This record gives sequence, structure tokens and C-alpha cells, in this order.
Amino acid sequence: MTVATAKETRGFATEAKQLLHLMIHSLYSNKEIFMRELVSNASDAADKLRFEALENASLYEDDPNLRIRVSFDKDANTITIDDNGIGMSREEVIENLGTIAKSGTAQFMSKLSGDQKKDAQLIGQFGVGFYSAFIVADKVEVFTRRADAAIDQAVHWTSTGEADYTIENVEKSGRGTQVVLHLKKGEEDFADGWRLRSIIKKYSDHISLPIVMEKQSFGDEAEAQESEDETINKATALWTRSRSDITDEEYKEFYKHISHDFADPLSWSHNRVEGKLDYTCLLYLPARAPFDLYNREGARGLKLYVQRTFIMDQAEQFLPLYLRFIKGVVDSNDLSLNVSREILQKDPNVDNMKSALTKRVLDMLTKLAGDQEQYAKFWKEFGQVLKEGPAEDYANKEKIAKLLRFSSTHTNSPEQDQSLDQYIERMKEGQEKIYYVVAENFNTAKNSPHLEVFRKKGIEVLLLTDRVDDWLMGHLVDYREKSFQDVSKGELDLGAIETEEEKQSQKETEKQFENMVGRMKGALTEEVEDVRITHRLTDSPACLVVGEHDMGAQMRRLLESAGQKVPDAKPIIEINPEHPLVVKLDQEQDEDRFNDLAKVLFDQASLAEGGHLKDPAAYVQRLNKLLLDLFV
Ligand code: ADP
Repeated sequence: MTVATAKETRGFATEAKQLLHLMIHSLYSNKEIFMRELVSNASDAADKLRFEALENASLYEDDPNLRIRVSFDKDANTITIDDNGIGMSREEVIENLGTIAKSGTAQFMSKLSGDQKKDAQLIGQFGVGFYSAFIVADKVEVFTRRADAAIDQAVHWTSTGEADYTIENVEKSGRGTQVVLHLKKGEEDFADGWRLRSIIKKYSDHISLPIVMEKQSFGDEAEAQESEDETINKATALWTRSRSDITDEEYKEFYKHISHDFADPLSWSHNRVEGKLDYTCLLYLPARAPFDLYNREGARGLKLYVQRTFIMDQAEQFLPLYLRFIKGVVDSNDLSLNVSREILQKDPNVDNMKSALTKRVLDMLTKLAGDQEQYAKFWKEFGQVLKEGPAEDYANKEKIAKLLRFSSTHTNSPEQDQSLDQYIERMKEGQEKIYYVVAENFNTAKNSPHLEVFRKKGIEVLLLTDRVDDWLMGHLVDYREKSFQDVSKGELDLGAIETEEEKQSQKETEKQFENMVGRMKGALTEEVEDVRITHRLTDSPACLVVGEHDMGAQMRRLLESAGQKVPDAKPIIEINPEHPLVVKLDQEQDEDRFNDLAKVLFDQASLAEGGHLKDPAAYVQRLNKLLLDLFV
């Protein structure tokens, strides 16, 4: 096998080029963050070295003290960030610095608007990482040697951050990575000891590795003395410190370090647990959803440490899928240092930690829910994911249900901001169930004919319009011992809300229309399972209802549009005897016209709930025929 060693020039992958361009032009108001990103990478590289060295101590070579060194050269206008971490091979450099391997990149790119202000927000959300070097530098050089590579197998990467970069093999005695920033005109101020110290303090104080700089000295002293190093940051793992010692700012910066998010988190929870299990966790609730939240391969999980040693990123075993938006660190004293993903899957300790961490997150959300404005932010970003909870985590169903928010006929607004507790508070005397309707969008839900009787009686109905809602309701079943009822399913039984008189008069109407119901059954044998006199409608002539245990219409449409086979089940049509059209229909002697009108009523009922007609052309023809009759 031949190893490429020669100097070559390679083009950046398209999305890397776009990202670079965007970043250079949109992050100018937040220049300093390049240091946080580069220090963060250096710290990750040290974590990786420590982890690999658990199996192979020789990787430390003769340089066991991990550190990050920051230096500058005023004359050359450069800043250098140097680590003795894991380093990169030539292939890794090409893969990591020449492309963007992150999942959801294409999706991210498609969201960009071209408006620099908006895009700057987005790019912060995506995470800029290494490329942020080009915010302040017009040329970046990387010298890197992997911890297991020979001295002459180091790599030198150079780029001006435009279309391409060069890469060649060089010699490098120390392992790890050195990033040299050649500062742009106008950015020379960064090559300054005080400035760099203050930036490091501000953004990277929490890094557990020492960040060292040469000691500042003055005047004559400088000539006389040997240069000496000093550590700039606190250099202890943040989560090991006690809560009272950590400022909010430190918590926030640490979040940005582990999440690569630019925005502050909404909230966090930091706990030390001793006893049967012994671990520390620091869990964060981000303020914004990442791009890959719905991507199956999307990044999720916590950073796992065992006795302060970094073990792996994205340890997914510590939280359920419906809490996949949580970021954080868990540091265990029970697990062994050579724990693997496979072992994690089987370890009962991990299961116990998962239950405990899940509880922590739900508690954190419950606390956040006390602040409506903050909780609304959370709900907007992650509410749909939380709705997966009752199906995945039956044990916490009640707790999760308390955290759910819905839109409802009470507010008649698409904003999902009503809790089930609020609903129950407002329930009518004698009301036993929590009513809801599921539809494709808010307007269809709000205008659903199924709501008519509820409006008339002043009973609140939840308006569900998210894709997961049918799934959610299938698992929620009840809350605080009140069962949920889809208003479009089964026979409507308003229980004690209806008076005896109302029930009696309904019976009479049913009798009165018996003959017509029979004729309609004849006309709609193909289309419906049954025809009934409705108790639900006040304004519409007819609506469709499905059996109590049949699949809801919305679920059916979703599955059909996803190309799935759904079991054949016909709906029931309910007709409103008080509607003039129905009264006319009852009087219609001409069987053909009766049939046409019956079919039109059926199709209309289907349209009203957002359905698609099986044969739209036939509907139009029938309707036109009936319209023409108006003019004879
Ligand atoms: P991210 O850190 O979000 O993955 P970056 O663009 O910052 O994205 O870095 C891309 C990859 O390059 C990193 O995941 C890492 O594998 C590698 N890398 C960056 N800096 C270093 C470094 N100092 N030492 C070793 N590897 C590094």
C-alpha cells in the first residue's frame, strides 16, 4: 500500500465551502468565539487520547501531561493553539477539515435564506467548529500528528478559507495538533496577551485541561528571565465542582462547549448522587432544536465519563428517546473504564441511572413549566418530541401528560398552550371525559362539524393537529382518571351533561326519521357502514364518524400518504334532522335525486374534515346536476 505523502491541493466539499463563506460574512459581530471553538476541539482531542490510552499507555509517548498552549507573535501577526491530544492522520484531516460530516447538513443548508442576520443565527445553531478560525484569520495552518504515527507522518494543512486547501506530510516531534491563525488586516489586536487571556477566561474557564500561556513580563525583567508558563483557566472539570461555586455564566459556557450551540440553554440540572449508585450528572435543556432532531441517525445522548475520564460522546443509553434533546454529562463511579456501548446496553446500573436521569429531566421541565413564557419556548421547540413520551415510557405517563400543551376551543388559537390540568379545571358539571378532535391542520380542527354540539353546550375540546397526536392519544388513554374521547369516534355519549329530556327527544327524532335513514343506507351501501341520526351537529347537515375502536380518519390519511396499507373500514354517516337540506331530502320522492343528494352529503362530510374524495369528478357532476335543477 502506498501512503500519500506528496503535497496536494484539494477543493473543499461544496457544503464546507458554503459554510465557510457564510460564517466569515455573518459572524463578524461575535469574532471571539473562534477561541472557544478551537479550545473546545483541543480539549476533545485530549479526552480522546486519554480514552485510547486506557488500552495503550504508550500513546502518551514521553509527554503524559495533557495541556493546551496558546501563544501569539505580534510581529508575525499570528495566534497558535497547540494541543498534545490525539492528533489526526492525513485521512482524518481530509475527512474532518475538508468536509462537513455532520448529519443534517443538507437540511441545514436548505434552510439558509441569504439574509446574513438570520443565517448567522442559524449557523450558530448548527455549530461552526474549526472553520470559525477564518472569522479572524485569512490563512490557517494546521500541523498535526496522530498519537500512534511516526514523526515523519505528521500532516501540514493550509488554507485561505476560500475554495481549496493544501495538504502535505511533514515531520512533527510532539504529537497532537497545532493550529496557526494568520490574522486578517484589522484583527491584529487579537495577538495580545491580555486580550487572549480575557477571552480564554470568558469562554474556556471550565475546560478541565490546563490552558497555558507564557507569563507576561515587563521591561528589563523580560530580558533577564527565562520564560515561564502559567495556567489561565480553572482547569477542573466543571461538574465536579459544587453548585454554589459555579456561576450561571460558567454553566452556560460549559453548555456551549459540550453542545456546540451558540445560544444559552433554557435551563440545567446539576446533581451529585451517592449511595446505591454513585454518579454526577449535569443535564441541559437547549433553547433551540438542533437540525437533526427528527433524524434517526441524529446526534443524541450524553457525554459519558467514568471517574473523570472521558469515555464516549453520544451515550444514548442514559435517556429515553423522547428526551433526546437533552445535552449533558454523566460521570459514573460505578462503571468500569473499559465500558463499551454493548456493555452499557446490558448493565442494570445503566438502567437505574436512566430512570433516575429521566426523572431529573421531567422534574426540570415541571419546574420550567412554572414560567409560562420560558415553557412556551421549550414547547415550541421540543413539544412534539415530548409527545412521544407516553408511548415510550408508560411508567412516567402521568408526569409527561402533565407537561403536555394543546390548543383548544377554549382559546381558539393555534398556540399550543393549554395544559390538561387547566382543561380539567374547566370541565362542565357532569362531564366525565376529556374531548379532543384530530385534524390535519388548525383550521380544519377548529371548524370540524364534530365540534358543533360541544360549542352549543360550552364544552371544551382539544384541537390536535400534529402528526404524532393520533399516536399520542392511542397511548395516553387517561389522565387523572379521566379518559380521553375522540369526538369523531363511536356513538356520542355526553353522559350526565345531557338532560333526560334531551335524550328523550332524540329518541323521538330517531323514530321519526327511521324511514329516511333506511333509504340513505340503500343509497350509500358502498360508502358507509351505517347511517345514524346525529346528536353532534347543529349547523352542518352531516358528518362522518368512525367506530370506537377503528383507526381515526387523520391516522388513516397519514398512513395512506406514507404508502402503507390500512385495513378497510367504512365510516358511519350521521345526519342532522334539523338541517333544511336533510328535511328536503326526506321529502324527495325521486329516487335518483335522493341518491345524488345522499352521495353529495357524504362527499361534503368527507371534505369538511379535510379528507380527499375518492371520485372528485363524480362529486362535481352530481353537484352541478343538482344546481341546474335550481334554474328549471
Ligand atoms: P466538531 O468539533 O463539531 O466535530 P469541527 O469542525 O470543530 O467540528 O471539527 C471537525 C473534526 O475535526 C472534529 O470532530 C475532530 O475530529 C477534528 N479535530 C478538530 N480539531 C482537532 C484537534 N485539535 N485535534 C484532533 N482532532 C481535531
